[in-house]
Amino acid sequence: MEIVRARLAGFCMGVGLALNKLDALLGDGDNRPTFMLGPIIHNPQVLESYARRGVGLAKTAAELPSGGRVVIRAHGIPRQEEDELFKRGVEVVDATCPKVKRAQLLIDEQAQAGRTLLLFGEDDHPEVRGLLSYAGPDAFVFETPEALAAHPLDPATAYVLAAQTTQDRQAFHQIKNDLATRLPGGIAALETICDATRLRQDEAIRLAGQTDCAVVVGGKASGNTRRLSQVIEAAGTPTVLVETVDDLRSINLTRYTRVGLTAGASTPKSIIDEIEAFLRAL
Ligand code: SF4
Repeated sequence: MEIVRARLAGFCMGVGLALNKLDALLGDGDNRPTFMLGPIIHNPQVLESYARRGVGLAKTAAELPSGGRVVIRAHGIPRQEEDELFKRGVEVVDATCPKVKRAQLLIDEQAQAGRTLLLFGEDDHPEVRGLLSYAGPDAFVFETPEALAAHPLDPATAYVLAAQTTQDRQAFHQIKNDLATRLPGGIAALETICDATRLRQDEAIRLAGQTDCAVVVGGKASGNTRRLSQVIEAAGTPTVLVETVDDLRSINLTRYTRVGLTAGASTPKSIIDEIEAFLRAL
């Protein structure tokens, strides 16, 4: 059996940086309690390993004891929550992905200029809640072009269009064109989309074309991992989604001759390596 491993399998830049910051805190010899605000990554094995090393998980700023340290994850947090952290007297280590931070600052700039935000994103996603906190009060979040089409727009209002970093770039440009026909004064648009997800998906589709089965490694609760698996299935290649090597033991892959291997943006290299070694030994 031949194994073809995707070049971009595993952590994106933002997740890698956030984990490096947490690892640096754990290794600095300071014994203050350390917390993450919300799971720092959608990977149960990595979260378990941090829990074993004493890292606490707080759902809100109110749960944090003063005198501790807290890491803000790559998705970022609403600015009101950040203010709350500082008020509680905890040391804040901001691991917001630089691309998400840039989107927050651009949206803030537009709000200061009096523009109303139209945000293409998932309403209940933590990143979106953070981005919205930098916008003015009339901001509107929509998940589909249809939802935006049903939203009344005032031609006298200055709008700005932006997107959650993981949205599809092509869909965003189509939305921008649709808005240009609805708003005779034109529409300002912010470039906030990150290509990490799309590049992984494009490579996964190429992989699907070269293999007769694909193994996707990542947390089952990780949206980008599940989407990777769906795009490979949609390209016609049978796919198995696994979190660890144990999930593979009961699956018979020996009937395949070329197996693709890829992983979500929250999967550590050590788990991908272990699975690759297991597949090669079959
Ligand atoms: S997907 Fe992009 S924006 Fe999101 S954390 Fe990773 S690098 Fe940052």
